[in-house]
Amino acid sequence: MRIGILNEVNDARVALIPDIAKQLINDNNQVFIENDAGNSSFFSDKDYTEAGAKVLTRQQVINQSELLISLHPLAENDLKNVNNNTKLISSYQPFADMSYLEKASSYPVTILSLDMIPRITIAQAMDILSSMASIAGYKAVLLAANYLPRYFPMLTTAAGSIPPAKVLVLGAGVAGLQAIATAKRLGSVVEAFDTRLAAKEEVQSLGAKFVEVEGASDDKSAGGYAVEQTEDYKKRQTVLIQEKAVKSDIIIATAQIRGRKAPLLISKETVEQMKPGSVIVDIAASTGGNCELTQNNKIIQHKGITIIGNSELAATMPMHSSQLYSRNIFNFMKVFIKNGQLNLDLNNEIIKSSCIMLDGKQLYQKK
Ligand code: NAD
Repeated sequence: MRIGILNEVNDARVALIPDIAKQLINDNNQVFIENDAGNSSFFSDKDYTEAGAKVLTRQQVINQSELLISLHPLAENDLKNVNNNTKLISSYQPFADMSYLEKASSYPVTILSLDMIPRITIAQAMDILSSMASIAGYKAVLLAANYLPRYFPMLTTAAGSIPPAKVLVLGAGVAGLQAIATAKRLGSVVEAFDTRLAAKEEVQSLGAKFVEVEGASDDKSAGGYAVEQTEDYKKRQTVLIQEKAVKSDIIIATAQIRGRKAPLLISKETVEQMKPGSVIVDIAASTGGNCELTQNNKIIQHKGITIIGNSELAATMPMHSSQLYSRNIFNFMKVFIKNGQLNLDLNNEIIKSSCIMLDGKQLYQKK
């Protein structure tokens, strides 16, 4: 296979690092990379050349590739230049927005969407959502610590003792659990809340307290994702979160429901009752945010509270996020590329779920 990597637009990450390029080349593939594509992740053109890849212009990469891998969906400008039957791998999120698929259907391309890989045990090593969420959870806590006008850990000093900071984590999925672990390492006292009861044990195993609201909707058939809750549940949840929030110094908000707007968990009133100097990092910002006042890609102050809306924190650690992304992609490609040959078997559960377009024919149907 001729595999191409382009420079990401407005993102420091690169979809394939030199080490993985080398492994693909060893498996009888060719790898083409746009010049400077790895620069912001600290992988130079020389690193790629030494790995056996060819460094080319953007247009040359598009012209010569049978498979294009990227972090963000291929720009529509590039789409019209790809060859017939090109395979595209990225995160297309068709459940959130079908408009890209509709445009792409004018071209005979095949699209494999990484966010559609089922969350089953054998696919764990391919899970880019987990890799990126884990970095985001870690970075959210570091960011909060940066803005917090006080210490995280408990300290006993000659000038008196300092109590530990209190952290509330909303949503104890991959990002939330990493946020808990990071906040614990920094010495704070952590509480976490999630609608999925399965999260309770994971939260407790990290040494945090699980905040529980009785009567959550059953999410067993949602493939590891959360489901929408009843109005009654939401009311009780709001009261309990408000009670916890006003005592917290930091809130890390990570709650998401796939394909829907993020649940609103922190109202303006709650923010106004929080202690001055407290910090909210809302990584659900791009889907509306868990906090009513969150503005996506902005850091705002509201009555002494700092609210950081950022869903792209993984991109702030481009070296490791590119490395993990590349490894996830490599594990995914092993399912359908062997010895340089492509075999897209739609009976394979992983391919069936992730292949949302085959040669211009839309396979994904919105439920
Ligand atoms: P996500 O990003 O979709 O959501 C983040 C968290 O928000 C989830 O834990 C969700 O339950 C929670 N949430 C949603 N609504 C909420 C509300 N109203 N209040 C509080 N919390 C709310 O989820 P994710 O982190 O990508 O994954 C969730 C889970 O999926 C993981 O913890 C894991 O159990 C499972 N998973 C399985 C695999 C696999 O087997 N391959 C891979 C990754 C994740």
